Amino acid sequence: MKKIIFYFCFVIILIFVMPMIFTNKFKTEEVLSSNMRNQEKFDYGDYSKIKLLHTENGSIEELDLDTYLYGVVASEMPANFEMEALKAQAVVARTYTIYQIRNGNKHENASICDSASCCQAWISKENRFARWDENFRIEYWKKIISSVDETKGKIIFYNNEPINALFHSNSGGKTELAINVWGGNFPYFQTVETNGEDAYTSYNSEIEISKDELITIMLENYPEFEINFDKENCIEIIELTEGDRVEKIRIGNIEVSGVEARKKLGLKSAKFDFEIIGNNVKFKVIGYGHGVGMSQCGSDALAKKGMKFDEIIKYYYKNVVISE
Ligand SMILES: [Zn+2]
Repeated sequence: MKKIIFYFCFVIILIFVMPMIFTNKFKTEEVLSSNMRNQEKFDYGDYSKIKLLHTENGSIEELDLDTYLYGVVASEMPANFEMEALKAQAVVARTYTIYQIRNGNKHENASICDSASCCQAWISKENRFARWDENFRIEYWKKIISSVDETKGKIIFYNNEPINALFHSNSGGKTELAINVWGGNFPYFQTVETNGEDAYTSYNSEIEISKDELITIMLENYPEFEINFDKENCIEIIELTEGDRVEKIRIGNIEVSGVEARKKLGLKSAKFDFEIIGNNVKFKVIGYGHGVGMSQCGSDALAKKGMKFDEIIKYYYKNVVISE
């Protein structure tokens, strides 16, 4: 009798439960593949295609937005950074690109160029592979692709407009207001402090030039320049910005902004101090880049502490919304 009950139950399982398991399995696969299809077909409307200017030869290439972004993330952020940092970079780069298409007028026939100092850096897969260690190429490229694909469609908005998603390498511990760099005022840029950026090589740098070299550089830019190195305070930092960068520095009889001094002296950032040592002037620099918006090293440091890409983005750009 027990045997009959056992077989009865077995048959019931065969008839009802097994099909449920298989149906569920197929359903899951169907949902997954339909998600993949949606991802492949994501429509950014007017911004689906971009015209990329190659600064090396002046040629213009038309690319799908997200295909273009593979080359941006690959060029802008080290692929050994945390996945969440790479995803934040993908969303930031996508938003920056759309902002440039809508508001930028840097290039007449192109949406954007491949120069980091003008727009944002871009590198072809072939050139990227050539520079990566052979053992890491596949793993790194997969991470780059995932960072863009897993954030497909995501764009950062403020007041329903894509933001000017500026970013930089290393804030040196504290980011900067856009107004202190370019004069423009964007409410979503505020000074933000990040711990852990000193663990990256871009945090510290130094430039030491002779007094004569400094005089030459200053005279090239300011013909009325004079300096007496015997005088105390012949060079003086007068004011700091909200982000602890040099707002104004007086060199001899000339007052220049920190941003200007950075450019003329070739410093990695405007967060610097100086020391006169014998015949030389040494500039000790903290951080790398203009300091506005997302810090790339900071985002990696935050990801290491467990922050997700959307939390990282909202940490650096205030009161923004990320599209679903
Ligand atoms: Zn450009």
